[in-house]
Amino acid sequence: MTNLESLYTDLRAHVESHYPLLYLVTFEEQQADQLIKELASEDQRKIYEWNLARGVVNFTHKQPLVEYRDLASTLEDWLNDELNSHFLIIKDAHLALHDNPLAITRLKALANKLLHDNETSATVILSSSQACIPPELEKFITLFDLPLPDENRIHKIIQKFVEMLDDEIDNKTLNDLTLAFRGLSEHEINQLLYRSYQRDGQISSQDVELVLHEKEQIIKKSGILDMVSSVEKFSDVGGLQALKKWLKQKSHILHNLNEAIEFGVEAPKGVMIVGMPGCGKSLTAKATASLFKLPLLRLDVGSLMGKYVGESESNMRRALQLAEAVSPCVLWVDELEKAFVGIGSGGDGSEVATRLFGYFLSWMQDKTGAVFVLATANDISALPPELLRKGRFDEIFYVDFPNRNEREGIFNIHLSKRNKNAPAIDLKKLAEKTDGFSGADIEAVVKESIEIAFINNRATLTTESLINIIDNTHPLKVVMKDKVKEYEDKFNSLKIKAAS
Ligand code: ATP
Repeated sequence: MTNLESLYTDLRAHVESHYPLLYLVTFEEQQADQLIKELASEDQRKIYEWNLARGVVNFTHKQPLVEYRDLASTLEDWLNDELNSHFLIIKDAHLALHDNPLAITRLKALANKLLHDNETSATVILSSSQACIPPELEKFITLFDLPLPDENRIHKIIQKFVEMLDDEIDNKTLNDLTLAFRGLSEHEINQLLYRSYQRDGQISSQDVELVLHEKEQIIKKSGILDMVSSVEKFSDVGGLQALKKWLKQKSHILHNLNEAIEFGVEAPKGVMIVGMPGCGKSLTAKATASLFKLPLLRLDVGSLMGKYVGESESNMRRALQLAEAVSPCVLWVDELEKAFVGIGSGGDGSEVATRLFGYFLSWMQDKTGAVFVLATANDISALPPELLRKGRFDEIFYVDFPNRNEREGIFNIHLSKRNKNAPAIDLKKLAEKTDGFSGADIEAVVKESIEIAFINNRATLTTESLINIIDNTHPLKVVMKDKVKEYEDKFNSLKIKAAS
């Protein structure tokens, strides 16, 4: 069964079970219309449509049927109508219901009537590009996402377009374009096909580049994902030997994925890196993308959170769909703990967090696309224990403050980056003097020392001048003593693997 077929079956079951309000999230109004038409035709239901632009319209040709009435007035009419298995369609639902208490309360009254009045039967179908459900309607509404076209469907869209041009397309171009179009809606695919054709009068493999460029735009516009151009190399990460070794192994597998799977190796899912602030978690994320030679997408967990019911889940779904569309890629979920704060607390937001969490976990479990997830977090006390259980991620690593050897390495990296390396500087001595410093603290010491040397008539950087700055630095471990102790205890009790 295709995604669309299973959505249809699901919708049909809800209609037959008299669910009063169904909410379709889609960028493709035509596809939603087609689906509604098919649902209605099975038992010849009448369809009334209201949209924001023209009020009540004929569902087929979209011409207004009466003079424009706003949604609240239309709902009042529907409340008074004799309804018998009707479909009542509300388009642009998120815009129409926004700040519209009268429409919201009338929709609620209609839902109650449909549930309790045996004389009336109808299904209200709200459709919109965003899921924004006012809390008052939450318990009446069931949310559905229209799926993006799968590879079969994309094949057909391209073929239809090429046939329309009376042209032909070879198999390789068709397959390359199909891959490139993954994650885009039917409308977006058609638009891009038109643009490609307008460019040079044909659809060819050269259009793949245009598609990929366009995808980057779509990702930027989504506001949830960021495409990070990382210049960090793997050799820029000091210490963390165990983590780096593990990542190198995964890199080898990813670069020979088909062969590895045939051999019986499981495709890598991802890794979670938890630990002390400023100790290289973000740096490792960026360096991993360079090592894997894959694009890096950063998921901004904070921006997932919407204020309407369903909005956060919708954002999460869109983000993961987009990541799959750009796969193979590394998906960096920064500050993972922010998404799942309050799970099980029963407080405000707890339900949303629980649903988001469930969705994320099942996506992790089922994902087939080559998306390598790299999650980073500081405060693991906020994370639900299920996430830390083995099997969710391939591995969880704990990044601690660097030990003496590692500090030496980190000093070397940051001094060399600025062309100020040994032998003039005694790295061992610097490492000895910086017990409890994070990588970020060390970088700050190097930066400041070089700045002061420059101001002092471009003096030569010496071990002593660096130690001078070190003596005047309060490392994070000291400043955040209590918090650090709390993290340490938690990491130890969970027996998380050390990254060093
Ligand atoms: P936070 O939890 O606060 O986001 P983080 O662990 O992600 O911290 P990073 O952002 O990776 O820390 O580190 C900040 C900066 O400190 C890095 O850009 C890098 O310059 C330096 N740094 C930290 N750890 C290391 C390391 N192991 N090797 C080299 N540089 C490091």
